[in-house]
Amino acid sequence: MERRIVKVALDTPLDTAFDYRWIKSDEAEPIPQVGQFVLVPFGRREVVGLILAVQQASDLAEDKIRDVIAVRSQLAPLSSKWLALCYFAADYYQRPVGEVVIPCSPKNLRALKNTALDKAIKKTAKLKAPALATASVRPQLHDEQEQAVLALEADTGFSVNLLFGVTGSGKTEVYLQAAERILDRARMAGEAAQVLILVPEINLTPQLEGNIRARFPHLQLATLHSQLAEGERLLNWMAAHTGNADIVLGTRLAVLASMPDLKLIVIDEEHDPSYKQQEGLRYSARDLGIWRAHQLNIPVVLGSATPSMESWQHAATGRYRKLELTRRAASNAQLPRVSLIDMERNKAPDGLAEPLVAAIKLRLEKGEQSLLFLNRRGYAPVIHCDACGWISNCRRCTAFMVLHKPERRLRCHHCSLELRIPNACPTCGNVDLQPLGRGTQRVEETLQKMFPDARVLRIDADSTRKKGSAQEAFDSVHRGDVDILLGTQMVAKGHDFQRLTLVGAINPDTALFSQDYRAGERLFAQLMQVAGRAGRAAQSAEGNPSEVLIQTRYPAHPLYRALLAHDYAGFAQTTLEERRSAGLPPFMFQALLRAEARELPLALAFLEQARGLLDHEGIIINDPVPMTITRVAGIERAQLLVESVSRMQLQAFLKPWVADLRALKSKVRWTLEVDPVDI
Ligand code: ADP
Ligand code: ZN
Ligand code: ZN
Repeated sequence: MERRIVKVALDTPLDTAFDYRWIKSDEAEPIPQVGQFVLVPFGRREVVGLILAVQQASDLAEDKIRDVIAVRSQLAPLSSKWLALCYFAADYYQRPVGEVVIPCSPKNLRALKNTALDKAIKKTAKLKAPALATASVRPQLHDEQEQAVLALEADTGFSVNLLFGVTGSGKTEVYLQAAERILDRARMAGEAAQVLILVPEINLTPQLEGNIRARFPHLQLATLHSQLAEGERLLNWMAAHTGNADIVLGTRLAVLASMPDLKLIVIDEEHDPSYKQQEGLRYSARDLGIWRAHQLNIPVVLGSATPSMESWQHAATGRYRKLELTRRAASNAQLPRVSLIDMERNKAPDGLAEPLVAAIKLRLEKGEQSLLFLNRRGYAPVIHCDACGWISNCRRCTAFMVLHKPERRLRCHHCSLELRIPNACPTCGNVDLQPLGRGTQRVEETLQKMFPDARVLRIDADSTRKKGSAQEAFDSVHRGDVDILLGTQMVAKGHDFQRLTLVGAINPDTALFSQDYRAGERLFAQLMQVAGRAGRAAQSAEGNPSEVLIQTRYPAHPLYRALLAHDYAGFAQTTLEERRSAGLPPFMFQALLRAEARELPLALAFLEQARGLLDHEGIIINDPVPMTITRVAGIERAQLLVESVSRMQLQAFLKPWVADLRALKSKVRWTLEVDPVDI
């Protein structure tokens, strides 16, 4: 009787691999292979795992080993290259490899019966015969675009290319034509080829998918993101895995898609924080994408109008090649004119200063659209009582309960606690409770009062809870059914609104004084991006360029000065100098150990213990400190920052340290994040 021991990776933080017994049940059954999915018992559940090794024997006693339920042998095994990528990710981020390989694979592999899986495989295979249709017209590339495409086309091996292009400069066109030429060249040579395009958030950039389909009607496009229905996700995953999909378009998890013929990786808006996973395996899809390109010896393109400091610094030292697009692509499009509204001089009882109100009025008269950006949802961030000083603190968090007026609720944005709005002050009975500050709902109310005939639309996480509602909202803006669009960062992303000629930023100052050293970089990127929504096609009626107005109390702040001049390079240079002298990334490599406990001293004591575990030459271990928002949902949180000027040295320290931390078997919950982005 044929039998094997298979070592299986499972999605659990417990261990790297688990032994299971496989016994041949009928003559036709093939021996399991490394890289195949298996169904196995785990506790009382059946879970899906991935075979990492096939052996004759186990170190465990026979009665400790359970039997494999089924091997998904109808799927071609994942390649050793793909497994090497996953091992690297597990190793670098200090997690078991099962937490890499299982979450990025379709869940349906577990639930599906073999027959259903067979059906799905047949269906993917049939996808290969695309309908004939005429492709959208390929615009004539302008010089800078042509140079960028030529540079990419010429690369036959690994290269990291920073495509630095102002908003509307036609970065997308560079991706598409580079992809097309690389796919064509492979086809001519009789080779298979695939292209991976990563975007921060697919729902906010539906135009890209449409553009790709229209340009390449003869190619297979598969999308991969977390909002796909499971059935569709399986089909698309399989299309990538079998090589049937020529182009895979996805969010960060797609960086781990199995693509046997990958020849080009594109990472659009490479600076976007959404590329960083904030739970489980806390990976950076950008960094893994670059590693993958290196592994496969292919080019990778990082596109942005406001690159991350990491990428900018690499371009400065020549490690990355910089490809630059300096002007807008469409023939009559110009960069908008940016001005500041000094809020010390302009009174704004309703949050909107007179010059901004006048500018909106002008757009309404001309039938053009305005966009107002306020990165704070809800009606007001807090309510309070003038009589006794009561304030709407969340009882479970070190945070305020936010007033949501249309929903008639107070909501904590950290623990999701919801309360009815109190009729009177809970401590003194005063019935006159006041909102403090303003969020998008309040500004919406103000706009409706000021411009009763205008069509005002608010887009934020609250207004778009229903599936598909964000899409619907954006469609109505594109159709021209909206005069004033108001929203959080959701409205800043890559939309190409044709009739938009005014952008207003209502209260961006809060980010200037944040504790987070990256807040300035993020604010600059957001303002550039939202400003970039203006003037993409339409000229204002008199041929004036579009306008961006920023309300601020700090008009002399260097960040705003750089923004006025559209001077990202200047901003980046100052920022990098500051980072260098302060010993911050990208000149320092960091890992963050976080601890959670019912009592803060417990969390701090755990971190203190962690600090003393290992000798740490060349490593800076800072003092344990409570997190800025210390308590969330009744849990106290603290952190310990570990740093080194050498990435390798930090990695060499982390591995044994994490092993020691695990061995403590502490009751305190902890997580380690390598290259943290929120500190
Ligand atoms: P980015 O991604 O850099 O913000 P897009 O790729 O969205 O810019 O391009 C902005 C606009 O310019 C789009 O409407 C696009 O169709 C158009 N465009 C791009 N390249 C060209 C070109 N070579 N000639 C004319 N229009 C172009
Ligand atoms: Zn009171
Ligand atoms: Zn709370």
